[in-house]
Amino acid sequence: MQIIHTVSELRAWSRTRRTGGRVVGLVPTMGALHAGHASLIRAARRERDAVAVSIFVNPTQFGPNEDFSRYPRTFDADCKLAEAEGADVIFAPTVDELYPTSTTTFVEVEGLSDRLDGASRPGHFRGVATVVSKLFIAAEPDRAYFGQKDAAQVAVLRRMTEDLRLGVEIVVCPIIRDPDGLALSSRNVYLSAEERTQALSLSRAIRRVETLFTNGVTDTAVLIAAADKLIQNENKIRIDYIALVDWSTLLPVETATPGTLFAIAAYVGATRLIDNTILL
Ligand code: AMP
Repeated sequence: MQIIHTVSELRAWSRTRRTGGRVVGLVPTMGALHAGHASLIRAARRERDAVAVSIFVNPTQFGPNEDFSRYPRTFDADCKLAEAEGADVIFAPTVDELYPTSTTTFVEVEGLSDRLDGASRPGHFRGVATVVSKLFIAAEPDRAYFGQKDAAQVAVLRRMTEDLRLGVEIVVCPIIRDPDGLALSSRNVYLSAEERTQALSLSRAIRRVETLFTNGVTDTAVLIAAADKLIQNENKIRIDYIALVDWSTLLPVETATPGTLFAIAAYVGATRLIDNTILL
């Protein structure tokens, strides 16, 4: 497995693979890799892509009081995991490489970027859209793999890819969870034992809403109230949002239908966690 630090080397790698008839798959990550990231790399391998995994803690998607400086950085372990899963290349640029001094160009997906996580994290999706554009321009992938875990991010990036006619197929992979239901996240390491136990109420709320919907409950107010009640019981949790939205517009719906996104964001202690499901 090769480790590449510059855009020009990554582009050369990708072009060589494509000239050789390969399909190039990109898995964008911020590192601190876990089984969720591994599942994206495996999905790319299954498609027989030449696989590049990017590892970059992107400063522009963090707010001023967020965890950019203390975000877990585990580069050596990440390389081992990526190699074991069959990645061909790690792309690990410096901040300067992706954001040359005095950068003034950003990508903004209007409307969508202000909804769900975008409402509570102003500028977050602008940072995400900008860095993913840069990664697409550098890697020139045929396909890019993202987790449904970040469902609002998927909506923003699908729209960006479509609007800019980037020609990259967006592949969305299922949420990987610990056996007790907690969605894997690089931020789970921040949780104390007590917080981790309370955090399980998020996935319990997801399952509860899935069951209610399967049993015929479609009224958004009823579904949200059921989830809210479950989570409110936990004294270390502060709900950011509980929402039922159309997955492509991220706008609220009054009646849930198959394909509706049910999403939760909550602070567990100081740690912001998200979870979701697409109702079937
Ligand atoms: P991150 O490193 O947190 O930016 O995540 C990189 C990619 O991994 C994103 O597309 C995430 O949605 C995806 N991802 C993170 N956690 C999970 C998970 N538990 N299951 C599946 N994909 C995940």
